[in-house]
Amino acid sequence: MKDPNCIFCKIANGEIPSRTLYEDEKFRVIMDLGPATRGHSLILPKEHYANLYEIPEDLAADAAKLAKKLAIRMTEKLGADGFNIIQNNNEAAGQTVPHYHVHLIPRYQNDGQHILWNPGEMPAEEMDEILNTILAD
Ligand code: 5GP
Ligand code: ZN
Repeated sequence: MKDPNCIFCKIANGEIPSRTLYEDEKFRVIMDLGPATRGHSLILPKEHYANLYEIPEDLAADAAKLAKKLAIRMTEKLGADGFNIIQNNNEAAGQTVPHYHVHLIPRYQNDGQHILWNPGEMPAEEMDEILNTILAD
């Protein structure tokens, strides 16, 4: 399934040219146009799924395996010091393009990026209440 209005469908299926660092029958991996760091790239499934809620489990698993493979390769080739793999779902979580994608972000000492969250604080009772909500049938 492709979405005719989706830019990532067009890129993933080669209708719009892109800097492609990997391609197989299920995925195209492209360089991000607004890179957070040197080498920031995106794993795009060729089929359209809006987000993690919609993508089939097997395809998400394949994307995770590919992320591991490319993280190793990119770390070696680019001389990265670390790596973030980020996957945003829905606007509230920072997703701007509603076609499932995995960010591959090589990290370098002092690269000036602030990708991690601000640690919070929470009372124990609230932690317990959240845990029970998740565990409840
Ligand atoms: P999101 O915020 O949805 O998780 O990430 C979308 C990413 O796609 C952003 O990092 C943005 O820079 C990138 N992006 C948006 N449009 C294009 C495009 O047309 N080509 C490429 N290569 N990257 C894009
Ligand atoms: Zn799409």
